[in-house]
Amino acid sequence: MGQKVLVIGSGAREHTIAYTLLKGASVDEVTVAPGNPGMIRDGIHITALSESNHAALIDFVKDNGYDWVFVGPEVPLIEGLVDDFAAAGIKAFGPRKAAAQIEGSKDFAKQLMERHNIPTAKYQTFSDLEGAQNYVHEHGAPIVIKADGLAAGKGVTVAMDEHTAQRALEDIFVDHRFGSAGAKVVIEDFLEGQEFSLMNFVNGTEFWPMPISQDHKRAHDGDEGPNTGGMGAYSPVPQIPQSVIDEAIETIVRPTVEGMAEEGTPFTGILYAGLIATADGPKVIEFNARFGDPETEVVLPKLTSDLGQGISEILNGGTPEFTWDEENATLGVVLASNGYPENVIKGARVPKIEVDEDSHVYYAGVVSDGKGSLVANSGRVLLVETSAPDIKAAQDKVYAILDKLETRGLFYRHDIGFKALNA
Ligand code: AMP
Repeated sequence: MGQKVLVIGSGAREHTIAYTLLKGASVDEVTVAPGNPGMIRDGIHITALSESNHAALIDFVKDNGYDWVFVGPEVPLIEGLVDDFAAAGIKAFGPRKAAAQIEGSKDFAKQLMERHNIPTAKYQTFSDLEGAQNYVHEHGAPIVIKADGLAAGKGVTVAMDEHTAQRALEDIFVDHRFGSAGAKVVIEDFLEGQEFSLMNFVNGTEFWPMPISQDHKRAHDGDEGPNTGGMGAYSPVPQIPQSVIDEAIETIVRPTVEGMAEEGTPFTGILYAGLIATADGPKVIEFNARFGDPETEVVLPKLTSDLGQGISEILNGGTPEFTWDEENATLGVVLASNGYPENVIKGARVPKIEVDEDSHVYYAGVVSDGKGSLVANSGRVLLVETSAPDIKAAQDKVYAILDKLETRGLFYRHDIGFKALNA
Protein backbone atom coordinates (compact mmCIF):
# COMPACT_ATOMS: atom_id res chain seq x y z
CA MET A 1 0.00 0.00 0.00
CA GLY A 2 1.19 3.51 -0.81
CA GLN A 3 2.01 6.16 1.75
CA LYS A 4 -0.31 8.75 3.20
CA VAL A 5 1.29 12.21 3.50
CA LEU A 6 0.23 15.46 5.17
CA VAL A 7 1.58 18.68 3.62
CA ILE A 8 1.50 21.90 5.70
CA GLY A 9 0.80 25.18 3.87
CA SER A 10 -1.72 26.70 1.48
CA GLY A 11 0.01 28.22 -1.55
CA ALA A 12 0.86 27.25 -5.11
CA ARG A 13 4.12 25.85 -3.71
CA GLU A 14 2.24 23.38 -1.51
CA HIS A 15 -0.13 22.58 -4.39
CA THR A 16 2.94 21.66 -6.47
CA ILE A 17 4.46 19.57 -3.67
CA ALA A 18 1.18 17.68 -3.11
CA TYR A 19 0.58 17.16 -6.85
CA THR A 20 4.16 15.91 -7.38
CA LEU A 21 3.87 13.52 -4.40
CA LEU A 22 0.68 12.04 -5.87
CA LYS A 23 2.35 11.55 -9.27
CA GLY A 24 4.86 9.10 -7.72
CA ALA A 25 3.90 5.46 -7.17
CA SER A 26 4.94 5.50 -3.49
CA VAL A 27 2.24 7.93 -2.31
CA ASP A 28 -1.46 7.39 -2.78
CA GLU A 29 -3.06 9.94 -0.50
CA VAL A 30 -2.12 13.56 0.21
CA THR A 31 -3.88 16.03 2.48
CA VAL A 32 -2.86 19.69 2.72
CA ALA A 33 -3.47 21.72 5.91
CA PRO A 34 -4.99 24.23 5.47
CA GLY A 35 -4.61 24.01 1.67
CA ASN A 36 -6.95 25.79 -0.72
CA PRO A 37 -9.99 24.62 -2.72
CA GLY A 38 -8.11 24.78 -6.05
CA MET A 39 -6.07 21.76 -4.93
CA ILE A 40 -9.16 19.53 -4.79
CA ARG A 41 -9.27 19.53 -8.59
CA ASP A 42 -6.12 17.38 -8.55
CA GLY A 43 -7.48 14.80 -6.11
CA ILE A 44 -5.68 16.40 -3.18
CA HIS A 45 -7.56 16.52 0.15
CA ILE A 46 -7.61 19.63 2.29
CA THR A 47 -8.37 20.11 5.98
CA ALA A 48 -9.10 23.41 7.67
CA LEU A 49 -6.29 23.15 10.25
CA SER A 50 -4.07 26.17 10.71
CA GLU A 51 -0.32 25.77 10.21
CA SER A 52 0.27 27.48 13.57
CA ASN A 53 -1.83 25.07 15.66
CA HIS A 54 0.87 22.50 16.34
CA ALA A 55 -1.15 20.47 18.88
CA ALA A 56 -4.12 20.08 16.52
CA LEU A 57 -1.82 19.06 13.64
CA ILE A 58 -0.16 16.40 15.82
CA ASP A 59 -3.56 14.97 16.82
CA PHE A 60 -4.70 15.00 13.18
CA VAL A 61 -1.63 13.04 12.02
CA LYS A 62 -2.05 10.46 14.80
CA ASP A 63 -5.80 10.09 14.40
CA ASN A 64 -5.61 9.64 10.64
CA GLY A 65 -2.46 7.51 10.31
CA TYR A 66 -0.29 9.72 8.08
CA ASP A 67 3.11 8.16 7.38
CA TRP A 68 4.96 11.49 7.42
CA VAL A 69 4.56 15.24 7.07
CA PHE A 70 6.05 17.78 4.66
CA VAL A 71 6.26 21.31 6.13
CA GLY A 72 6.11 23.83 3.25
CA PRO A 73 6.31 27.42 4.63
CA GLU A 74 8.98 29.17 6.71
CA VAL A 75 6.86 30.41 9.62
CA PRO A 76 5.95 26.99 11.11
CA LEU A 77 9.55 25.80 10.53
CA ILE A 78 10.96 28.79 12.41
CA GLU A 79 8.34 28.24 15.13
CA GLY A 80 9.58 24.68 15.67
CA LEU A 81 6.82 22.59 14.09
CA VAL A 82 9.30 19.87 13.03
CA ASP A 83 10.66 19.71 16.61
CA ASP A 84 7.12 19.37 17.98
CA PHE A 85 6.27 16.60 15.50
CA ALA A 86 9.53 14.80 16.40
CA ALA A 87 8.72 15.02 20.13
CA ALA A 88 5.37 13.38 19.35
CA GLY A 89 7.09 10.57 17.40
CA ILE A 90 6.00 11.88 13.98
CA LYS A 91 8.39 12.05 11.02
CA ALA A 92 8.38 15.45 9.38
CA PHE A 93 10.52 16.66 6.47
CA GLY A 94 11.96 20.10 7.14
CA PRO A 95 14.65 21.69 9.32
CA ARG A 96 14.32 21.93 13.08
CA LYS A 97 13.93 25.34 14.67
CA ALA A 98 17.67 25.75 15.33
CA ALA A 99 18.56 25.06 11.68
CA ALA A 100 15.66 27.13 10.28
CA GLN A 101 17.47 30.15 11.78
CA ILE A 102 19.38 30.24 8.50
CA GLU A 103 16.23 31.90 7.15
CA GLY A 104 14.79 33.27 10.41
CA SER A 105 17.75 35.51 11.17
CA LYS A 106 19.85 37.21 8.50
CA ASP A 107 22.48 37.89 11.15
CA PHE A 108 22.66 34.14 11.98
CA ALA A 109 23.08 33.37 8.26
CA LYS A 110 25.75 36.06 7.80
CA GLN A 111 27.76 34.87 10.83
CA LEU A 112 27.58 31.26 9.62
CA MET A 113 28.85 32.35 6.19
CA GLU A 114 31.65 34.35 7.79
CA ARG A 115 32.81 31.39 9.91
CA HIS A 116 32.92 29.11 6.86
CA ASN A 117 34.27 31.57 4.27
CA ILE A 118 31.14 31.35 2.17
CA PRO A 119 31.06 34.08 -0.48
CA THR A 120 28.49 36.79 0.30
CA ALA A 121 28.32 40.59 0.47
CA LYS A 122 30.39 42.28 3.22
CA TYR A 123 28.13 43.35 6.07
CA GLN A 124 27.71 44.73 9.52
CA THR A 125 24.85 44.17 12.01
CA PHE A 126 23.41 46.96 14.19
CA SER A 127 20.78 47.07 16.91
CA ASP A 128 20.73 50.85 17.27
CA LEU A 129 19.75 53.62 14.88
CA GLU A 130 22.75 55.84 15.47
CA GLY A 131 25.39 53.19 14.79
CA ALA A 132 23.53 52.14 11.65
CA GLN A 133 23.18 55.75 10.45
CA ASN A 134 26.88 56.43 10.93
CA TYR A 135 27.85 53.28 9.04
CA VAL A 136 25.58 54.19 6.11
CA HIS A 137 26.95 57.74 6.10
CA GLU A 138 30.56 56.55 6.01
CA HIS A 139 29.92 53.79 3.49
CA GLY A 140 27.66 55.72 1.07
CA ALA A 141 25.31 54.27 -1.56
CA PRO A 142 24.48 51.94 -3.20
CA ILE A 143 23.92 49.93 -0.04
CA VAL A 144 21.44 47.28 1.10
CA ILE A 145 19.43 47.46 4.36
CA LYS A 146 17.85 44.24 5.69
CA ALA A 147 15.61 43.74 8.73
CA ASP A 148 17.12 40.77 10.61
CA GLY A 149 13.99 38.64 11.04
CA LEU A 150 11.16 37.37 8.84
CA ALA A 151 9.38 40.19 7.01
CA ALA A 152 7.48 38.29 4.31
CA GLY A 153 9.91 39.40 1.61
CA LYS A 154 9.45 43.09 2.43
CA GLY A 155 12.33 43.65 4.84
CA VAL A 156 15.00 44.46 2.23
CA THR A 157 15.75 47.90 0.79
CA VAL A 158 18.24 48.15 -2.04
CA ALA A 159 19.16 51.83 -1.64
CA MET A 160 20.73 53.53 -4.65
CA ASP A 161 21.18 56.78 -2.67
CA GLU A 162 21.99 57.56 0.97
CA HIS A 163 18.66 59.24 1.67
CA THR A 164 16.72 56.05 0.80
CA ALA A 165 19.03 54.04 3.03
CA GLN A 166 18.57 56.42 5.98
CA ARG A 167 14.79 56.34 5.48
CA ALA A 168 14.83 52.53 5.54
CA LEU A 169 16.70 52.65 8.86
CA GLU A 170 14.11 55.03 10.33
CA ASP A 171 11.32 52.73 9.13
CA ILE A 172 12.94 49.89 11.05
CA PHE A 173 14.18 51.60 14.23
CA VAL A 174 11.80 54.56 14.65
CA ASP A 175 8.52 53.41 13.08
CA HIS A 176 9.11 49.72 14.03
CA ARG A 177 7.67 48.72 10.68
CA PHE A 178 8.79 45.10 11.06
CA GLY A 179 8.17 44.77 14.81
CA SER A 180 10.63 42.41 16.49
CA ALA A 181 11.94 41.28 13.07
CA GLY A 182 13.57 44.73 12.93
CA ALA A 183 15.24 44.64 16.36
CA LYS A 184 18.49 44.19 14.44
CA VAL A 185 19.46 45.30 10.98
CA VAL A 186 22.00 43.83 8.59
CA ILE A 187 23.63 46.40 6.31
CA GLU A 188 25.48 44.95 3.37
CA ASP A 189 27.34 45.88 0.21
CA PHE A 190 25.38 46.11 -3.01
CA LEU A 191 26.17 43.24 -5.39
CA GLU A 192 25.69 43.30 -9.14
CA GLY A 193 24.85 40.37 -11.40
CA GLN A 194 22.08 37.96 -12.40
CA GLU A 195 20.21 36.29 -9.59
CA PHE A 196 19.32 32.61 -9.58
CA SER A 197 17.90 30.09 -7.13
CA LEU A 198 19.64 26.83 -6.29
CA MET A 199 17.45 24.56 -4.16
CA ASN A 200 18.72 21.35 -2.59
CA PHE A 201 17.33 18.31 -0.81
CA VAL A 202 19.48 18.04 2.33
CA ASN A 203 20.02 15.31 4.89
CA GLY A 204 22.61 16.36 7.49
CA THR A 205 25.90 16.35 5.58
CA GLU A 206 24.52 15.06 2.28
CA PHE A 207 22.66 17.05 -0.33
CA TRP A 208 21.13 16.66 -3.78
CA PRO A 209 20.96 19.87 -5.86
CA MET A 210 17.95 20.58 -8.07
CA PRO A 211 18.02 22.35 -11.47
CA ILE A 212 18.41 26.13 -11.02
CA SER A 213 15.64 28.63 -11.69
CA GLN A 214 15.10 32.40 -11.81
CA ASP A 215 12.31 34.30 -10.06
CA HIS A 216 10.89 37.74 -11.01
CA LYS A 217 10.35 39.67 -7.78
CA ARG A 218 9.08 43.00 -9.10
CA ALA A 219 5.36 43.41 -9.69
CA HIS A 220 5.46 44.80 -13.24
CA ASP A 221 7.02 44.22 -16.66
CA GLY A 222 10.67 45.14 -17.12
CA ASP A 223 11.34 44.64 -13.37
CA GLU A 224 9.40 47.78 -12.48
CA GLY A 225 7.22 48.34 -9.43
CA PRO A 226 7.45 47.08 -5.85
CA ASN A 227 9.00 43.81 -4.69
CA THR A 228 6.53 40.93 -4.36
CA GLY A 229 6.69 37.31 -3.24
CA GLY A 230 7.50 36.50 -6.91
CA MET A 231 5.55 36.97 -10.17
CA GLY A 232 6.89 34.08 -12.22
CA ALA A 233 9.90 31.84 -12.78
CA TYR A 234 11.59 29.54 -15.27
CA SER A 235 14.19 26.78 -15.41
CA PRO A 236 16.90 26.22 -16.55
CA VAL A 237 18.64 29.63 -16.58
CA PRO A 238 20.82 29.33 -19.71
CA GLN A 239 22.69 32.62 -19.14
CA ILE A 240 24.19 31.14 -15.94
CA PRO A 241 26.96 28.78 -17.10
CA GLN A 242 27.26 25.29 -15.62
CA SER A 243 30.70 26.25 -14.24
CA VAL A 244 29.03 28.92 -12.04
CA ILE A 245 26.49 26.37 -10.78
CA ASP A 246 29.28 23.90 -10.01
CA GLU A 247 31.22 26.63 -8.21
CA ALA A 248 28.12 27.57 -6.19
CA ILE A 249 27.63 23.94 -5.16
CA GLU A 250 31.24 23.60 -4.00
CA THR A 251 31.84 27.03 -2.45
CA ILE A 252 28.36 27.71 -1.05
CA VAL A 253 26.04 24.70 -0.63
CA ARG A 254 28.63 22.15 0.54
CA PRO A 255 30.34 24.32 3.19
CA THR A 256 26.94 25.57 4.44
CA VAL A 257 25.54 22.07 4.87
CA GLU A 258 28.78 20.69 6.35
CA GLY A 259 29.24 23.77 8.55
CA MET A 260 25.75 23.47 10.02
CA ALA A 261 26.22 19.78 10.77
CA GLU A 262 29.64 20.45 12.36
CA GLU A 263 28.20 23.19 14.58
CA GLY A 264 25.45 20.97 15.96
CA THR A 265 22.56 22.46 13.95
CA PRO A 266 22.35 19.95 11.08
CA PHE A 267 19.92 20.88 8.34
CA THR A 268 17.41 18.39 7.00
CA GLY A 269 14.86 19.54 4.44
CA ILE A 270 15.04 21.91 1.51
CA LEU A 271 17.88 24.44 1.56
CA TYR A 272 17.24 27.28 -0.86
CA ALA A 273 20.28 29.37 -1.84
CA GLY A 274 19.34 32.73 -3.38
CA LEU A 275 22.48 33.55 -5.35
CA ILE A 276 23.90 36.27 -7.54
CA ALA A 277 26.47 35.62 -10.28
CA THR A 278 28.94 38.49 -9.76
CA ALA A 279 32.14 39.22 -11.66
CA ASP A 280 33.96 37.48 -8.74
CA GLY A 281 31.82 34.35 -8.90
CA PRO A 282 28.53 33.33 -7.25
CA LYS A 283 27.64 34.92 -3.90
CA VAL A 284 24.80 34.43 -1.43
CA ILE A 285 21.96 36.98 -1.34
CA GLU A 286 19.88 34.96 1.12
CA PHE A 287 19.16 31.47 2.36
CA ASN A 288 15.68 30.05 2.80
CA ALA A 289 14.88 26.97 4.86
CA ARG A 290 12.22 25.67 2.46
CA PHE A 291 11.14 25.48 -1.18
CA GLY A 292 10.91 28.83 -2.98
CA ASP A 293 7.63 30.12 -4.33
CA PRO A 294 7.27 30.40 -7.39
CA GLU A 295 10.53 28.49 -8.12
CA THR A 296 9.04 25.19 -6.89
CA GLU A 297 6.26 25.42 -9.46
CA VAL A 298 8.81 25.29 -12.31
CA VAL A 299 11.40 22.97 -10.71
CA LEU A 300 9.33 20.08 -9.31
CA PRO A 301 7.57 19.47 -12.66
CA LYS A 302 11.06 18.47 -13.95
CA LEU A 303 11.45 15.70 -11.37
CA THR A 304 11.33 12.34 -13.15
CA SER A 305 11.83 10.23 -10.02
CA ASP A 306 9.31 9.59 -7.22
CA LEU A 307 9.31 12.56 -4.77
CA GLY A 308 7.64 10.66 -1.93
CA GLN A 309 10.10 7.77 -2.29
CA GLY A 310 13.09 10.18 -2.19
CA ILE A 311 11.86 11.98 0.92
CA SER A 312 10.94 8.83 2.79
CA GLU A 313 14.45 7.49 2.08
CA ILE A 314 15.87 10.67 3.67
CA LEU A 315 13.51 10.41 6.65
CA ASN A 316 14.56 6.78 7.16
CA GLY A 317 18.31 7.42 6.82
CA GLY A 318 18.53 5.80 3.38
CA THR A 319 19.95 7.07 0.09
CA PRO A 320 17.40 8.84 -2.05
CA GLU A 321 17.44 9.10 -5.80
CA PHE A 322 16.37 12.28 -7.56
CA THR A 323 16.43 12.45 -11.37
CA TRP A 324 15.43 15.38 -13.57
CA ASP A 325 14.21 16.16 -17.07
CA GLU A 326 17.25 18.03 -18.42
CA GLU A 327 15.83 18.33 -21.95
CA ASN A 328 12.88 20.66 -21.51
CA ALA A 329 12.39 24.16 -20.15
CA THR A 330 9.63 25.06 -17.71
CA LEU A 331 8.10 28.49 -17.22
CA GLY A 332 5.38 29.70 -14.85
CA VAL A 333 3.46 32.98 -14.65
CA VAL A 334 1.57 34.20 -11.56
CA LEU A 335 -1.93 35.61 -11.87
CA ALA A 336 -2.38 38.14 -9.03
CA SER A 337 -5.17 40.31 -7.64
CA ASN A 338 -5.10 43.96 -8.73
CA GLY A 339 -3.20 46.12 -6.27
CA TYR A 340 -0.82 43.32 -5.20
CA PRO A 341 1.44 43.64 -3.23
CA GLU A 342 0.48 46.95 -1.60
CA ASN A 343 -3.31 47.24 -1.67
CA VAL A 344 -4.75 43.90 -2.69
CA ILE A 345 -8.31 44.07 -4.00
CA LYS A 346 -9.87 40.71 -3.21
CA GLY A 347 -12.93 39.14 -4.77
CA ALA A 348 -12.07 38.79 -8.48
CA ARG A 349 -13.66 35.80 -10.18
CA VAL A 350 -11.03 33.18 -11.04
CA PRO A 351 -11.44 32.05 -14.66
CA LYS A 352 -11.63 28.34 -15.55
CA ILE A 353 -8.37 27.40 -17.24
CA GLU A 354 -8.03 24.54 -19.73
CA VAL A 355 -4.49 23.20 -20.20
CA ASP A 356 -2.81 20.34 -22.06
CA GLU A 357 -0.87 17.53 -20.37
CA ASP A 358 2.44 19.48 -20.44
CA SER A 359 0.93 22.38 -18.51
CA HIS A 360 -0.60 22.77 -15.07
CA VAL A 361 -2.42 25.29 -12.90
CA TYR A 362 -1.26 25.59 -9.29
CA TYR A 363 -3.64 27.50 -7.01
CA ALA A 364 -2.77 29.85 -4.14
CA GLY A 365 -5.06 32.60 -2.75
CA VAL A 366 -8.47 31.23 -3.73
CA VAL A 367 -11.73 30.43 -1.93
CA SER A 368 -14.78 28.63 -3.24
CA ASP A 369 -17.92 30.61 -4.12
CA GLY A 370 -20.02 27.57 -3.15
CA LYS A 371 -21.23 27.15 -6.74
CA GLY A 372 -18.24 25.38 -8.25
CA SER A 373 -16.13 28.46 -9.03
CA LEU A 374 -13.17 30.04 -7.28
CA VAL A 375 -12.78 33.62 -6.07
CA ALA A 376 -9.49 35.42 -5.41
CA ASN A 377 -8.92 36.15 -1.72
CA SER A 378 -5.30 37.29 -1.52
CA GLY A 379 -2.43 38.67 -3.59
CA ARG A 380 -1.11 35.74 -5.56
CA VAL A 381 -4.04 33.74 -6.92
CA LEU A 382 -2.57 31.00 -9.11
CA LEU A 383 0.33 30.15 -11.37
CA VAL A 384 0.14 28.65 -14.87
CA GLU A 385 3.16 26.44 -15.63
CA THR A 386 4.20 24.69 -18.81
CA SER A 387 7.01 22.57 -20.14
CA ALA A 388 8.35 22.91 -23.71
CA PRO A 389 11.59 22.21 -25.62
CA ASP A 390 12.97 25.71 -24.93
CA ILE A 391 12.20 28.84 -22.91
CA LYS A 392 10.74 30.78 -25.83
CA ALA A 393 8.34 27.94 -26.65
CA ALA A 394 7.36 27.63 -22.96
CA GLN A 395 6.81 31.39 -22.73
CA ASP A 396 4.65 31.43 -25.89
CA LYS A 397 2.59 28.53 -24.57
CA VAL A 398 1.92 30.00 -21.12
CA TYR A 399 0.92 33.36 -22.60
CA ALA A 400 -1.32 31.67 -25.17
CA ILE A 401 -3.20 30.20 -22.17
CA LEU A 402 -3.28 33.41 -20.10
CA ASP A 403 -4.02 35.89 -22.89
CA LYS A 404 -7.33 34.29 -23.73
CA LEU A 405 -8.69 34.32 -20.16
CA GLU A 406 -11.19 36.76 -18.71
CA THR A 407 -8.94 38.36 -16.06
CA ARG A 408 -10.97 41.29 -14.77
CA GLY A 409 -9.61 42.29 -11.33
CA LEU A 410 -6.43 40.29 -11.92
CA PHE A 411 -3.05 40.98 -13.55
CA TYR A 412 0.12 39.22 -14.62
CA ARG A 413 3.54 40.11 -16.00
CA HIS A 414 3.98 39.68 -19.76
CA ASP A 415 7.74 39.17 -19.80
CA ILE A 416 8.57 36.20 -17.56
CA GLY A 417 11.82 34.67 -18.88
CA PHE A 418 12.99 37.88 -20.59
CA LYS A 419 16.53 37.73 -19.19
CA ALA A 420 17.06 34.31 -20.74
CA LEU A 421 15.65 35.42 -24.09
CA ASN A 422 17.67 38.67 -24.18
CA ALA A 423 20.92 37.01 -23.14
P1 AMP B 1 16.07 39.02 -0.06
O1 AMP B 1 14.76 39.20 0.64
O2 AMP B 1 17.26 38.91 0.83
O3 AMP B 1 16.01 37.98 -1.14
O4 AMP B 1 16.27 40.36 -0.92
C1 AMP B 1 15.31 40.78 -1.83
C2 AMP B 1 15.97 41.25 -3.10
O5 AMP B 1 16.83 42.35 -2.80
C3 AMP B 1 16.88 40.22 -3.74
O6 AMP B 1 16.21 39.32 -4.56
C4 AMP B 1 17.82 41.08 -4.51
O7 AMP B 1 17.25 41.48 -5.75
C5 AMP B 1 17.96 42.29 -3.65
N1 AMP B 1 19.19 42.21 -2.84
C6 AMP B 1 19.33 41.65 -1.62
N2 AMP B 1 20.61 41.74 -1.19
C7 AMP B 1 21.30 42.38 -2.16
C8 AMP B 1 22.67 42.79 -2.31
N3 AMP B 1 23.57 42.59 -1.35
N4 AMP B 1 23.01 43.42 -3.45
C9 AMP B 1 22.09 43.67 -4.41
N5 AMP B 1 20.80 43.32 -4.34
C10 AMP B 1 20.40 42.67 -3.22
